[in-house]
Amino acid sequence: MTDPHSARPHAVVLIPGDGIGPEVIDAARRSIDATGVHVRWIEHAAGANAAEKFGKTLPDDTLDAVRKHGVALKGPCGTPIGGGHKSVNVAMRQALNLYAAVRPVRTIDGIKTRYDNVELVIVRENTEGLYSGIEHEVVPGVVEALKIVTEKACLRIAEYAFRYAREHQRKKVTVFHKANIMKMTDGLFLNCAHAVHEHYPDIEFGALIIDNGCMQLVKDPSRFDVLLLDNLYGDIISDLCAGLVGGLGVVPGANIGAEVAVFESVHGSAPDIAGKGIANPLAAIMSGVMLLNYLGETKAAERIKAAYNVMLASGDPALRTKDIGGTASTGSFTQALFDRITKGGPHAA
Ligand code: ATP
Repeated sequence: MTDPHSARPHAVVLIPGDGIGPEVIDAARRSIDATGVHVRWIEHAAGANAAEKFGKTLPDDTLDAVRKHGVALKGPCGTPIGGGHKSVNVAMRQALNLYAAVRPVRTIDGIKTRYDNVELVIVRENTEGLYSGIEHEVVPGVVEALKIVTEKACLRIAEYAFRYAREHQRKKVTVFHKANIMKMTDGLFLNCAHAVHEHYPDIEFGALIIDNGCMQLVKDPSRFDVLLLDNLYGDIISDLCAGLVGGLGVVPGANIGAEVAVFESVHGSAPDIAGKGIANPLAAIMSGVMLLNYLGETKAAERIKAAYNVMLASGDPALRTKDIGGTASTGSFTQALFDRITKGGPHAA
């Protein structure tokens, strides 16, 4: 991690990605630069545009740069459905061993939803399970996918979730699983969580079969604190939880490994709105706030957070994008935020 007290700039790899990626990553970069924190951005490609330029969706140069500098801000990379290249997002997490996806989901003042007290964090295992990418045809008409689950990865992610809970003054970790059906794979995930909990008697532990967990989440999300999920469940529950607080436009994320961290929104490349200038850049900006905190630049992180919180709390449709009920474009929202961060801005509340 870069020394926050050092006068040297923080070197951060910037990966714009595909679809709305370049638009929202530019907004996140501008917001961070507006705080005056000295970041040296090192741009690298991944996704469809990398394939065009370098013949590879995930160039070695990009991976090497993230390994070297240890931190990246990344836009989403599109994944073709039912064929084509493998997910670049998943491949990067596996190649860099970014084993924990951390996704804070919170109710935001000024964004109207059915719930007013969501304050949870998703901790998703990021490297194995059904995302191991091992699929094959057994005989014509019969295909098989392998769900790889290792004790090592289960213990590591459970340890991460409990440690995170303790360090962030959270009270409870809840596992969602389907160990009644997948007795060995989900059973191992659940047993490892139980085993790790033994070392964290100060943190409460709960376990729910995932279908029940979904129902409980939708009924009353406020009863959940830290959610510990395997790779596939973590992906699905992340979108579900985004829906509780205003959608994919407002949920950030971090992919954490032993020595490397890549910050990226939960949302995908959103090809349906790419290039229209209407994407909500908040999730990417919030991911940038997580990145600043990771770098130890907590004051700058607070400045960005305070700026968008005031803008959203104002209820002014001109200060939010369409997905959360506003009229702002990606550009006008970003400009208003920039003004607010740099000088209190014309939209100061
Ligand atoms: P991918 O194939 O990259 O996963 P996708 O379209 O399948 O992309 P998402 O990108 O997550 O999945 O988009 C799901 C829906 O949410 C789309 O309708 C998209 O327009 C919307 N959406 C996602 N991110 C944003 C955003 N930042 N601002 C506004 N709408 C968004």
